[in-house]
Amino acid sequence: MAIYNPKSLKAEEFINDEEIRETLRYAEENKNNLPLIEEILEKARPKKAEKGYVCAGLSHREASVLLACEDPEVIEKIYKIAEEIKLAFYGNRIVIFAPLYLSNYCVNGCLYCPYHLKNKHIPRKKLTQEEVREEVIALQDMGHKRLAIEAGEDPVNNPIEYILDCIHTIYSVHHKNGDIRRVNVNIAATTVENYKKLKEAGIGTYILFQETYHKESYLRLHPTGPKHDYDYHTEAMDRAMEGGIDDVGLGVLFGLELYKYEFAGLLMHAEHLEAVHGVGPHTISVPRVKKADDIDPTEFDNGIDDETFAKITACIRLAVPYTGMIISTRETEQVRSKLLKLGISQVSGGSRTSVGGYAGYSADERPHDTEQFDVSDQRSLDEVVRWLMESGHIPSFCTACYREGRTGDRFMALCKSGQILNCCHPNALMTLAEYLKDYASEKTQEVGYKMIEEELKKIPREKTREITIEHLKDIKESNKRDFYF
Ligand code: SAM
Repeated sequence: MAIYNPKSLKAEEFINDEEIRETLRYAEENKNNLPLIEEILEKARPKKAEKGYVCAGLSHREASVLLACEDPEVIEKIYKIAEEIKLAFYGNRIVIFAPLYLSNYCVNGCLYCPYHLKNKHIPRKKLTQEEVREEVIALQDMGHKRLAIEAGEDPVNNPIEYILDCIHTIYSVHHKNGDIRRVNVNIAATTVENYKKLKEAGIGTYILFQETYHKESYLRLHPTGPKHDYDYHTEAMDRAMEGGIDDVGLGVLFGLELYKYEFAGLLMHAEHLEAVHGVGPHTISVPRVKKADDIDPTEFDNGIDDETFAKITACIRLAVPYTGMIISTRETEQVRSKLLKLGISQVSGGSRTSVGGYAGYSADERPHDTEQFDVSDQRSLDEVVRWLMESGHIPSFCTACYREGRTGDRFMALCKSGQILNCCHPNALMTLAEYLKDYASEKTQEVGYKMIEEELKKIPREKTREITIEHLKDIKESNKRDFYF
C-alpha cells in the first residue's frame, strides 16, 4: 500500500487515498469540536506584520474540519475571514480574462465532456491561424488583454506545434490599441519537453484541472484515450515545473465525486507543489459540471448546491491565502456575486466556449454548435466590468507581474510584502483606464472614472501616485498604452 508523502513525485503517494480517508474521518469526528475549530480559525486569520499582512494558511486536515462543520455561526466566521484574507492580499481588484477555444478535436473519452471522441453529432472544428487572428481581434475589440487558450487532446489535429503557432499568432496581433499580453494555457497533460516549449513561447499560467482526485472514479470517468492515465495526469504539474513553468493552476470539476474528498485532494496537491518546488499553485479554479451537448449533469450524483459551493470556496481561501482563485461564466451572476466576497480574485467575462465563438457575432448572439458547455453568465464584458465596479471591485486587466518576472515564489513574495497597494493597485487603475477609454460604453465610463478618482487616493507612496496620475492623463489624451509598475 502506498504511504503518504507530500514530497514524493508519485501520484499515489502525494495524493494518497488512505490519507484522504483518514482526513475525512478526522474531520467528521471533529466537526463539532468548537475549541479546535476556534483554534483553526485563529490560525487562518490574517495577522498584521511589519509590512502588510501574513497568513499561515491551513493544512488539508485543518481545512477539512472547517468544511465539515455545519454550525451556521462558524460558517459565518469562515466567510468573514475569507473576505479579510482576500482584502489583505488581493485588495478589491478582480482580474479579468476570457477563454479562447482553439480546437474541439479530442481523442479522449471523458464522460462529462461533449468533446469526447464518441460524440458524433458535435461538429469538429479547429481554428486556422487566420481564424485565430480574427478571434483575437474580436477579443481585443471587447477589451480583453488576458486569454486562457483551450483545446481538446488530439496529437494529430492539435499537436504542440499547433498550440505554439496559435500562441505566436495571438501575441502578434495588435489591432487598434489592442494587445493580448498574457496567454494562459489549458491543454492536456504533456511532456517536460513540451512544457519547455510552452515556457519559451511566453505563456502565463499552465492550467490543468484534475477533474477528480479519486483514482477509481477518475479511471471510470476517463475510460479511453491518453487522459485515462491517472498518474500521468496527476503528475503533470511536476513536469510543467520541471519544464520551467513557475505558475500552475489547479482545479477540480465539482460534481463528479464527493466534494469533501476532492477538497482534501486539491489541498494535498497544493501542499505537494509547495513541498517539492517551494511554491504552491498560482491559481485554483472551481468549475462545476454543466449541461452540454450529449451531457446531462444530473447523471453525475455528486452535484453540490450553491451554499456548499460557497463554503468550499471560502475554505480554499483560508487554506491557501496567497493563491489566486478563478470563477468562470459557468456560474450565474448571483453565484459569482456571492463568491467574489469569499476570495475569488479572477473572473472571465463575455466568454464563448465554442470554437470560433467570438468573430462575426454581436454581444447577444452566440453559436452553440461546437460549445463545450452552457454559459450561465451571458453578459457582455462591458456589463461585467460595470457590475464589478458597482459592487466595489476594481476590474483589472493587468498582466505586469509575469512580464516583470514576478512569477512563482517572486509573485508570492510581492503578495506578502504589503507592496500591492503601490504596485498592483495602480496597475489595475491604469489598465482599467485603458479599457474605459478604448472600449467601454458611456455608462461604464462614468462609473469607472469616478472609481479611479477615489481609488487613486489609496496609493500610499506619493511618488507612485503622481506617476500613476501622469500615466492616466496620457491614456486619456493619447494613444500611449501599457504603463505598469
Ligand atoms: N482538454 C484539456 C484537458 O484534457 O485537460 C482541457 C481543456 S477543457 C476545454 C477545460 C476543462 O473544461 C476540463 O478540464 C473540464 O474540467 C471542463 N469541462 C469539461 N466538460 C465540462 C462540462 N460539461 N461542464 C463544465 N466543465 C466542463
